Amino acid sequence: MAIRNIREIGDEILSKVSKEVTIITPRTKLLIKDMLDTMYSIEGIGLSACQVGVLKRIFVVDAGEDYGEEPHILINPRILEKSGEQTGSEGCLSVPGKHGTVTRPNYVKVIAHDENLKPFELETTELLARAICHEMDHLDGRLYVDLVEGELKDNSEAEEEE
Ligand code: ZN
Repeated sequence: MAIRNIREIGDEILSKVSKEVTIITPRTKLLIKDMLDTMYSIEGIGLSACQVGVLKRIFVVDAGEDYGEEPHILINPRILEKSGEQTGSEGCLSVPGKHGTVTRPNYVKVIAHDENLKPFELETTELLARAICHEMDHLDGRLYVDLVEGELKDNSEAEEEE
């Protein structure tokens, strides 16, 4: 188990566009394992490779048992369809101690590669759809803070966090 250091807002790597993954090496597999360990160690629901300093189009998400027993590992993901709208509180492991209101699609259908670069599709709604959209933005160098409606708030002001 290895916990990697999370890059925080202000670090220029978070504004860079990550590169397509064309080959899975033992290093890539280790990266994914470490990303999961890192995400769970701080009770995050999603983490992109750029957040641990690697500009590859990979993210992991786990929105809880309602969305499947295993974490989702998405490599080279692309959104095929999105619809609806959900407005809710969002935070980011790279922006510690903060949250803000963001509107996202309520439904997304994505195509991505798995750890063997085999394509698969994933259709989901609500929290997992939100998490996927948030992580997709990371792969293109965008942070949720630019989408926040109103002010970015301190978590100490929150009664309930996502
Ligand atoms: Zn984030």
